[in-house]
Formats: sequence, structure tokens, C-alpha cells
Amino acid sequence: MTGRTQNCRFCGDALAAPVLDLGEQPFSNSYVVPGQEALERRYPLRICVCETCLLVQTDYDAPADEIFSADYAYFSSYSTTWVEHAKAYAQRMISRFGLGAQSLVVEVASNDGYLLQHFVASGVPVLGVEPTNGTAAAAVAKGIPTRVEFFGERFARGLCAETGGVDLIAANNVLAHVPDIADFTRGFAALLKPEGVATFEFPHVQRLIEGLQFDTIYHEHYSYLSLHAVETIFKAAGLRIFDVEELSTHGGSLRVYAALEGSDHAPGERVAQLLAQEREAGLHTPQGYAALGARVGAVRDGFLSMLQGAKADGKLVAAYGAAAKGNTFLNYCGVGARDIAFVADANVAKQGKLLPGSHVPIVSPAALLARRPDYVVILPWNIKDEVALQMAGIRDWGGKFVTAIPALEVF
Ligand SMILES: [Zn+2]
Repeated sequence: MTGRTQNCRFCGDALAAPVLDLGEQPFSNSYVVPGQEALERRYPLRICVCETCLLVQTDYDAPADEIFSADYAYFSSYSTTWVEHAKAYAQRMISRFGLGAQSLVVEVASNDGYLLQHFVASGVPVLGVEPTNGTAAAAVAKGIPTRVEFFGERFARGLCAETGGVDLIAANNVLAHVPDIADFTRGFAALLKPEGVATFEFPHVQRLIEGLQFDTIYHEHYSYLSLHAVETIFKAAGLRIFDVEELSTHGGSLRVYAALEGSDHAPGERVAQLLAQEREAGLHTPQGYAALGARVGAVRDGFLSMLQGAKADGKLVAAYGAAAKGNTFLNYCGVGARDIAFVADANVAKQGKLLPGSHVPIVSPAALLARRPDYVVILPWNIKDEVALQMAGIRDWGGKFVTAIPALEVF
């Protein structure tokens, strides 16, 4: 389905007006070949809060085939910190839930097997489910059995009949990325053994609201989840949350542990504590989200006035980091190559292309240093210390770094 979603993607009730409108935006990972700017397509990017179930969501479905045809395959194993995170997860789950040679572990959106390989190394049987051919093939080559499928209730029922059910299902950074979250969640209930456990990691919407992380909003990211909303969605599927942890990944994430309604997993204190924390932040009512648009608007105004001042002084402004999150930010601000002359990125595959929407040219870090910019805007502000260290050479001519989120900072 394509177009404006008038109704909540979970409960079906009518959606109220957006709390945040980021304008018309291209897909955040569709980097542009110079000369092909005119082919770029843009779709509305807006955030609504369902007043009934509190699911924060985009209200427009861009054509999924265009999202996935964007020539883009992310191999999780390329990130060493992420592979370490996965290893620690596997070890904890094996000991906490007593997994062994008789168990079965499934990962939904298993990518190239970056996580399941750690279960295999401990002798625990696994199966990956991954919709992207290239990454699934990389997993199979590593000895990780993988089905090339989109996960949902129908597929899960078939897999349960075939395997007799699953002891642990892992779903990292996928719950927020499925358009039909109700069908997706029912798949977990259908696949678990009576005492099986499913864990989900997703960015916590409380961190987005408090840290104004609106640059994590893009078309492929349909839902922005609170524990309140997830509890409601899981309950409808017959799942009960019995534990939750806060993680530092992706600007602040939750890891939720769920099991079947009638299972023996005793509810831990942390679930009630986290729900109370969300209530204190006002996220248990639609009003808790109402100020987001105005606060995000203030971030844009602060950044644009900085750019204007730099231009008036004849300064050269560049940026660092051609990541997806920078694209949402620049396109919302309406910034282009006339404002930011170029952006440096260490990824050779991106160099020579243009950022989606803003069409700022992507160059190598060495090329940035050679042009001696007065200001370097760090787009992935979450790693600003690391970038400032790598690009410290700009201090030689008095260059300064800039971050815009959650508030303008020049240093
Ligand atoms: Zn709803």
C-alpha cells in the first residue's frame, strides 16, 4: 500500500494531525549520482501519535519496492562494536535461559549471521530469517542456515509446524521497521514454544523526545516505540513482557523480553519501573508528544541562523559524515550545496555521489582538509568526539566543529 495512512497502523483508529512535519523527503539511503538529480522522488515524512494506543508512527507509506531497490545492503559484521554487542547478548541468553544442543534459536532480520554465529559457536542450533538475498547468502556461506523471507504470522505458523517451536527468537532493530506491526508481532506468538522467549531491541522514543533525535526519523522507520505502546501491541498478540533493559545503542534503546501470556516467566521489577519513567515524562498521553514540532523547529532556526552568519562573514562551511540521519536533518532544514559546500565520508562507495535531497557532494576526509573549511558540521553528532579527534587537523587554520542537535554547539 502506498500513500497517506489515515488510520493507526496498529489499532486502526483515525490518526490526529501530525505532531512533527519534516516536509517532503527522498529516501535517506538513496545517494544520488551527479547528473541524475532530476530522477529523485520525494515523499512526505510526518510523525503522528495515535490517541488510542499511543503508537508514534509515520502517516505515509512510501512504495516499499523503491525503498528496497535502493542499491543498499548493510552488512552488520562490518561494525566491530555491533558484533561485540551480539556476542555478549548470545552468552547472556545461553546462560539465562539454559540454551543448548536441544534448543532452537531464530533471529528475525538475521542479516549476515553476525549474531547467530555466536550461538553456533556454543553448539546451539539456529535458523536465520532474512529478506535481503545478498546478506542471507553471506550468512549461509558462514554456515548459518537462513530462510530468505519477510517475517509475519503466516510464515511463522509454517515454521512452527516444521520445527516444533522455538526457544529464543531475537529481533534487533526490526520491530520499528515493519509497516504491519500487528501481523509481525503475532508471528512471534505463533512460533514460540510454551516457555520460549522473544527479545526485541528498538530505539526508545523517550530518548528521541528528550534528546530531539528527530534525525533518526526516516521513511523506512515506521514506528517510534514506547514501552507503553509495545505492551499494548504485544498483549493483543498474546505476548506478555516480563523484563526490559535500557541500552546505549542507537542513541538509547530498549531490550524487551516477552513470552506467551500463560508462560511461567515471572514479571521483573524493571517493567513497572520503566513504565513509571515513561509516565513521568508524560509519554502515557498524547499531550506528552505535542511540543515536539515546536522544539524541533527551534533546532532548525538555530542552525540556519548559524549558517547565515557564516555566509555573511564569507566563511567556508563543510560537513562530516554522509549517514542516513544527516539527510533527514539537512532536508528538513532546506539546506543545500550553496550552504554546505561538501561533506566528507570515509566510505569510498559514497565518495563522488551526492547526498539525497540536499545534493551536497560527498568527498574524502583528505579532500575536506585540503579545502581548509572554517566550519565542519558533524552530522552524526552521537560520535562527535570521535570525529573531532579524527579531523583535528582543521584546528591548524582555526577551523571549528558544529553540532546542531539537541541545540547548536560550536567548538
Ligand atoms: Zn492506534
